Amino acid sequence: ALRYHMGWERAWASPEPKASYDAIIVGAGGHGLATAYYLGKNHGITNVAVIEKGWLGGGNTGRNTTIIRSNYLQDPSAAIYEKARSLYETLSQDLNYNVMFSPRGLLMLAQTHHEVRGYLRTVHANTLQGVQTEWISPQRVKEIVPIMNIDGPRYPVLGALYQARGGTARHDAVAWGYARACSAMGMDIIQNCEVKGVRSENGRVTGVDTTKGFIGTKKLGMVVAGHSGQLAEMAGFRLPIEAVALQALVSEPIKPCMDVVVMANTVHGYMSQSDKGEMVIGGGTDGFNNYTQRGSFHHIEETLRALVETFPMISRLKMLRQWGGIVDMTGDRSPLISKTPLGNCFINCGWGTGGFKAIPGSGWAMAELMAKGEPGPLAAEFNMWRFKEGQFIDESVAAGVAH
Ligand code: FAD
Repeated sequence: ALRYHMGWERAWASPEPKASYDAIIVGAGGHGLATAYYLGKNHGITNVAVIEKGWLGGGNTGRNTTIIRSNYLQDPSAAIYEKARSLYETLSQDLNYNVMFSPRGLLMLAQTHHEVRGYLRTVHANTLQGVQTEWISPQRVKEIVPIMNIDGPRYPVLGALYQARGGTARHDAVAWGYARACSAMGMDIIQNCEVKGVRSENGRVTGVDTTKGFIGTKKLGMVVAGHSGQLAEMAGFRLPIEAVALQALVSEPIKPCMDVVVMANTVHGYMSQSDKGEMVIGGGTDGFNNYTQRGSFHHIEETLRALVETFPMISRLKMLRQWGGIVDMTGDRSPLISKTPLGNCFINCGWGTGGFKAIPGSGWAMAELMAKGEPGPLAAEFNMWRFKEGQFIDESVAAGVAH
């Protein structure tokens, strides 16, 4: 059957770097590639290079559990995550590449009275923000997810925050779709090219030193997630960011048994079922900063304990794979889409455990910031100086433990 599957064109070109570009984006994860795409599509800037030290999508973009939702509490967060979610709805058509967006619905279980109050508050906030979420009873939860034990030995399910248009997408396809579209616009995606230094003169970046030599640029965008602190250090400034390992695992494939995403933040585990039938499982971050891309072993046990209690049938499943990524966490658990102390250098990071869902909205906002030199309404509140000024966008409930 594969006999005729030969001679396929490459989806994106692999050029050698030019001497200079109008804009360089460091990091070919989803956020970097989306930034490049919207620079071209929305602002007509196509003399762009995206520089990646490994392979594109090989960072957190290819390692996450693909949950998409926009049920955040604070107005700036709801605005950017809802923009991203709504762009996901038509992303396959936009890129002419099937990103397998599946708005199958998402439940965040409330298992303490404190959580009930918190999620009711979020539902009210979302109503005012134009984000469609609702509060549902334990009985309704059981109807939607028959395999769940709502009586829970430790924490019974008291209800859930339900976002019917939340869901998942295929993470690799999101990176590949954006990459192909960028390449088609004439942009250079340069893989296996690590940025080792940032050169500047008179407070402006002139270019980057890479493993393929010096590359000049008029504008620089740093979009490297867990390695943002290192890039910022090369450019001579510090970020309010910590790098922590977060891990996930998948089971052997089984017949369809759950057609929504469920997050149980009190016991601390979450799960969805992939199109292949594997149960996709995640838990919390390591309790200490590290760059291991692996994660501590005891987290697997804690996560599975939480999920076996919520879904007893999974106790008989075999786990196939486990992996980790390095997530970039700010103190208020909200991202940075910001100018920096260098005039033509911009940063996009701090998406922590939950930035896959934000990719289209983040790229849209970062492209506007890089093109105009000033943030638009989506990015305005996410500047890095909010930590100095105390203007936090506190999402520790929506994003501190969730994804
Ligand atoms: P990345 O995809 O990490 O891309 C950054 C790129 O920069 C990398 O490819 C890296 O190689 C490159 N780079 C770094 N340093 C250099 C350098 N010096 N030179 C050149 N290139 C460099 N989010 C959700 O919304 N839903 C989820 O369910 C979810 N689950 C997750 C589960 C896990 C286990 C993990 C690890 C993350 C999860 N996330 C989730 C978070 C999400 O994956 C990230 O927020 C998002 O993918 C970040 O994308 P990015 O493009 O910023 O970073």
